[in-house]
Amino acid sequence: MRYCRGCAFPVAYGRFLEWTSDGTILGKDSSGTRLVYLDVDEIQNIFTGVSRWMGIPIDRIIYRAEKAVGRRFIETMVPGFIARAPRGKYARPEFGIKATARFVFNYMAGLGMGLGEILEYHSTESARIRITEAHSVPLVAGDGAGVFEHLERVGVDATWERVKSDEYIVTLERVSDEPPAEDRLVLDETTTYLPGNIEYQRCKRCNVPLVVSNTVYLNLERGILRNSTTGLRVVALPAQSFYAVFRELFREFGKELPSVVESLEQRYTRENTLVSYYVDGVEGGIERLFSDFAWKGIGNPIQVGNTERGLEVVVENPFHNEMVAGRIVGLYEALIEENVGATWTEQTPGSLTVTMRQ
Ligand SMILES: [Zn+2]
Repeated sequence: MRYCRGCAFPVAYGRFLEWTSDGTILGKDSSGTRLVYLDVDEIQNIFTGVSRWMGIPIDRIIYRAEKAVGRRFIETMVPGFIARAPRGKYARPEFGIKATARFVFNYMAGLGMGLGEILEYHSTESARIRITEAHSVPLVAGDGAGVFEHLERVGVDATWERVKSDEYIVTLERVSDEPPAEDRLVLDETTTYLPGNIEYQRCKRCNVPLVVSNTVYLNLERGILRNSTTGLRVVALPAQSFYAVFRELFREFGKELPSVVESLEQRYTRENTLVSYYVDGVEGGIERLFSDFAWKGIGNPIQVGNTERGLEVVVENPFHNEMVAGRIVGLYEALIEENVGATWTEQTPGSLTVTMRQ
């Protein structure tokens, strides 16, 4: 891995990712994968909270939803000639597979998803993978299964077991001769975003915004990203993972789920935000609370102000309505140290308005 001599950001990611003027981070791949920086604890908090609310484990659901995302993600990353190569032990030499796997796992490590290593690989049949310090075990297992399905063009299922405190063995096994076709339908393509005019001070060498290279630190040996301001572990997650997982949970558990997710996120943000980092007292400007939204790929906060309905915040291109609404309310509550009543609407597609009243 090479690091930029101007700002020390990993060169490969600076090249692959684009921090746009509209509050999104987009991969420069064929499908323009959208990424968002989230705390690993924040994601865990949502998954654990939903699971507790449901009263059942949801890891299998998360895994299943992510498999389709993993497949899509890999399609856009791995050069076509690898996926098109003939299958089978003789046509597909192990060193080729191992090189592909290394490429994929290295890439995931750079996004903060932990380390992955192939222990065993039998083309079209099965594989065993060791994963260490995963941001989320079912998400990584889903990615792994999706990659295998894409490369081998068979349907697989995954199981995993913990072998050490932060180490798991994932086993992939063929369950059908074709990858499941319906997976493709669950992925929405949101490829248009409302235009914005965010400007960044950028590194003169690699063009990555300096706020990003000054804040996000990569430990590639462990596959861990850390926010140097908060000290918390973060991950660059494909926004598709959120859509896919929540669509699947929603299908299983119905329409109360979105508001559960929203209040989980609101509470996490309220309890884990260093408000002093954002704002020097309320007079410091409430809009500063949302100043990291754009570079994290959360969305573009275009308006913050008091109306007769209450304090109103408008964010364009939110990566997920409930998550972003919950975050906004939680940040405000952390600032004023009080709970507020809040509502939100999507007035036009891609534009989220959150209204808060003390
Ligand atoms: Zn640079």
